[in-house]
Amino acid sequence: MTERHSPLRATGADTVHDVALVGCGPTGATLANLLALRGLQVLVLEREADIYRLPRAIHFDGESMRVFQTVGIADLMAPQLIVSPGMRFLGVDGSVLIDWQRPTDVGPQGWHPSYRFHQPSLEHTLREQLAQHANVTLRLRHEVFALDEHADHVAIRYEDTASGRLHATAARYVVGCDGARSLVRRLMGTELEDLRSHERWLVVDVLLKNDRPDLGDHSIQYCDPRRPATYVRGVGTRRRWELMLMPHDDLNTITRPESVWALLAPWLSPDEAELERPAVYTFHSVVARGWRRGRLMIAGDAAHQTPPFMGQGMCAGIRDAANLAWKLADVLQGVAPDSLLDTYESERSPHVREFIEAAVRFGRVIQTTDPEEARRRDAEMSANPQIFVTPQPPLGPGTHDGGEFGGRVGEQPRLGDGKRLDDAIGYRYALLVAPALAGAATEAMRAAAIDAERLAIVIADSEPAQRWLAALNAQAVLLRPDRYVAGVASQAAEIARLLRSPCSSWAWPR
Ligand SMILES: Cc1cc2nc3c(=O)[nH]c(=O)nc-3n(C[C@H](O)[C@H](O)[C@H](O)COP(=O)(O)OP(=O)(O)OC[C@H]3O[C@@H](n4cnc5c(N)ncnc54)[C@H](O)[C@@H]3O)c2cc1C
Repeated sequence: MTERHSPLRATGADTVHDVALVGCGPTGATLANLLALRGLQVLVLEREADIYRLPRAIHFDGESMRVFQTVGIADLMAPQLIVSPGMRFLGVDGSVLIDWQRPTDVGPQGWHPSYRFHQPSLEHTLREQLAQHANVTLRLRHEVFALDEHADHVAIRYEDTASGRLHATAARYVVGCDGARSLVRRLMGTELEDLRSHERWLVVDVLLKNDRPDLGDHSIQYCDPRRPATYVRGVGTRRRWELMLMPHDDLNTITRPESVWALLAPWLSPDEAELERPAVYTFHSVVARGWRRGRLMIAGDAAHQTPPFMGQGMCAGIRDAANLAWKLADVLQGVAPDSLLDTYESERSPHVREFIEAAVRFGRVIQTTDPEEARRRDAEMSANPQIFVTPQPPLGPGTHDGGEFGGRVGEQPRLGDGKRLDDAIGYRYALLVAPALAGAATEAMRAAAIDAERLAIVIADSEPAQRWLAALNAQAVLLRPDRYVAGVASQAAEIARLLRSPCSSWAWPR
């Protein structure tokens, strides 16, 4: 990459990057890719020599896949994924209480609603894609240990842990994508709000030696008060069991192979599979209060953590990256005021909180250990099978019109030529408009002097695109670069107003 020389010698730094990311897990790697698409100079500092080898996340949703589409890796990922058919909840007596089917067709995001994947493979693909961008530098085995904020930059100090050599550099903004124990969060002085669920579970990944179709493709929640457990089918020969730890368990011996195989005995024997990893995790539920302080920000597990019952922890980090990337780019490229960055937390925090609270509710039901309570729960669940639905909250207040549809993720219909909507748009704003108002939209764009590099006008020339506009009760919908709805218009005059409204007025230079 070309490094810009700056007058920052006083801080010991010889270069200034637009954005420095601390950590290259899935959040950091996604954010770096999106920032690179906007042409920013990005430095990524990662403490470890390699990608964490063992899988943690095993599920992601269609919205994450859509972000990967923008990044340019969705088609590379697709052959490595399987579509999840859903989840079954078994009660105290082993009968099915709820059969939560996930649609196995392509959904409104233009992808399937629920995928199983191998986290190290995804991270590998994200890093390979990063390597395509000359404006991104990834430094492995480089651990950040100090950040000093100045008026127009952040001074960063880090160690090359291979040699022990200390370095200094600088960036206009720093984003901590540095995981649950985030240093950046601590340096910002940000505290965590405790959503009060911190349960310990044993997570066991195995590699099957022979096919076991009887285990099935559905995830299964064994709501057994003697030991709540979850089964998840992974990709290839991978299968996972998560087993809640009970008060009588001995933590010193529970991860030994003989203890693990004893716990897996109802499903599998040692001659049928190889143990890839047994590990004890405490599943926390927290949201940071203060995702931004001046030039410092946090994203992903650094900003929030959820129990994994809905498979949404990493997905939330991907949403953070999608929300923050275009805002950082707009601010750094002088299109938007710095205050745009305040909408990152105001939009994302209430959104992720809904998912975490749903996962905590989910977990309380699954983790019932009192037999009487478990029987009452079973009766309730059988009578009300709708209690588990994926939340679909809007973003909190920010850069959308706050109406019925503003702040909700937009759909991705295919267009008349068969293209997915986002492929037609690219990484910018878009106005999807009914054919009858196409001329008015072009005129409104010209009158507002909006550059075509920042806004695409896309004609809704297919039945699915028109169906979506009808569902919005609109003739046009303005989508932000993260594919969330900024606002809708139902007639020509409203399009002109939409393109000049406060939620979009900073989006195009005048
Ligand atoms: C058992 C389990 C199951 C899960 N299942 C799911 C699931 O099915 N679906 C889902 O969406 N999510 C799931 N999750 C959550 C998901 O794994 C995490 O949310 C996700 O990995 C977080 O990504 P991240 O990039 O924010 O943080 P991390 O993956 O933790 O990455 C942080 C990176 O920062 C680096 N770093 C830290 N400090 C520094 C420093 N000072 N300098 C330089 N680098 C630093 C670290 O080395 C690391 O590479 C699960 C988690 C667990 C534990």
